[in-house]
Amino acid sequence: MNLDDHPTVQWYRQRETTRPDSDRSTRLDPQLLRRLCIEAGADDAGFVETKRFAIADQMTDLMAVFPTNRSLICTVHRLNHENLRTIAHSVTNLEFQQAWKNANQTARTIAFRLQELGIRALNVPVGFPMEIDRWPDRMWLSCDKINAIEAGLGRMGWNRLVLHPRFGANIVLGTILTDVELTSYDTPLEFNPCVECKLCVSVCPVGAVGADGYFDFVSCYTHNYRERLGGFADWVGKIVSSHSLKDYRTRVTDSETVSMWQNLSIGGQTRCDRCMAVCPAGQAQIGGFLEDRKGFAGFVKKMQDKEETVYVVPGSDAEAHVKSRFPHKKVKRVSNGLRPNSAAMFLKSLPIAFQRHQAEGLNATFHFTFTGEEKCKGTVIIRDKIITVQDDLVGAADLHITADSRTWTSFLAKEAGLPWALISRRIRIKGSPKLMKAFARCFPA
Ligand code: SF4
Ligand code: SF4
Repeated sequence: MNLDDHPTVQWYRQRETTRPDSDRSTRLDPQLLRRLCIEAGADDAGFVETKRFAIADQMTDLMAVFPTNRSLICTVHRLNHENLRTIAHSVTNLEFQQAWKNANQTARTIAFRLQELGIRALNVPVGFPMEIDRWPDRMWLSCDKINAIEAGLGRMGWNRLVLHPRFGANIVLGTILTDVELTSYDTPLEFNPCVECKLCVSVCPVGAVGADGYFDFVSCYTHNYRERLGGFADWVGKIVSSHSLKDYRTRVTDSETVSMWQNLSIGGQTRCDRCMAVCPAGQAQIGGFLEDRKGFAGFVKKMQDKEETVYVVPGSDAEAHVKSRFPHKKVKRVSNGLRPNSAAMFLKSLPIAFQRHQAEGLNATFHFTFTGEEKCKGTVIIRDKIITVQDDLVGAADLHITADSRTWTSFLAKEAGLPWALISRRIRIKGSPKLMKAFARCFPA
């Protein structure tokens, strides 16, 4: 076929010769783009150039999915905070479902409108789905929180949520990639909308939001995401390992089984989100907080007083916290389903899994040498309830663990026992076994 004779090719060539030069602009006005985003349904938008240092660690992923990426469009989508401020979590979950759906539809609309202007654009999923085959490693393509902060759309609060100056914590975030450059880009907000009231600290059932600014990701994840990701995997494990229906029912209540049905049929559910609900940051919420402190405190108390099941890993800081701060709540001991599938992943996951209060009084340096299929080395220092992990062997070790990498990951997955691994010398320890125990206490699984 002669391409020149094809109607589509002729249409394209005709359009290119008649298209005004203004349409071919390679640099777009950010005000125009912001207007386009708002008209498409976003509540706010900001822009970041792909060369910015703060987003450098995302670029491998972002360029892989969209190689001509030049600018990030970051969008904000408001949540109805009344739907969050209720102890009926079904109402909150519905609000999230609708917000994610709207945010994805808006992002898609923005991408199409840009394409009508001859600009290529790709909308990254808001929330889920993610690149799930990477589990348990980083599955998301874009770090929407970092992008939003860089785009001047908010700053991180004590609750580790991006707080928008108008809408506060009550938002979901989106990212759209585009091949157009803008005439200027946004920069981070000069002030933090967080008013440091610490209501998020007081309401968190698992103590994940520390009064000193520390955030225990894994405790939040274990409870709030009980029906998702690792929590879901743990539930499947319980089904498979149950000896009988009776045995299953001793491990999983009927309500929890039905809750999994709801999660699968309606969409991903969460169990908490209280740190978002109580947050008074942002112009939309601050009036209620300033004018009616008593009413605000009453609503926070309702959440604290709610009788509910809180999911914790046995021996975790979360378990100790809920038992001492919220004795009326029912503690359910579960696995969070996080299982490192390689030695490198094990070392990488330690700062996230670390339970600092379990490290009380422990000051030691641990060396790890992994052999066999996967060879790598790492140093873990735990001092004053702070953990640092470094590549290779650094400094003098109080305990040196040498392990066959495959045996180690099987041991972490509870598929291989430690006594057998020690006897067969697949795992060798140089130093006090007490230190090994103290180390394990910091990472309950
Ligand atoms: S979602 Fe719940 S568990 Fe997680 S940090 Fe917020 S209050 Fe704590
Ligand atoms: S609840 Fe208070 S301390 Fe926590 S993030 Fe919001 S404003 Fe900041």
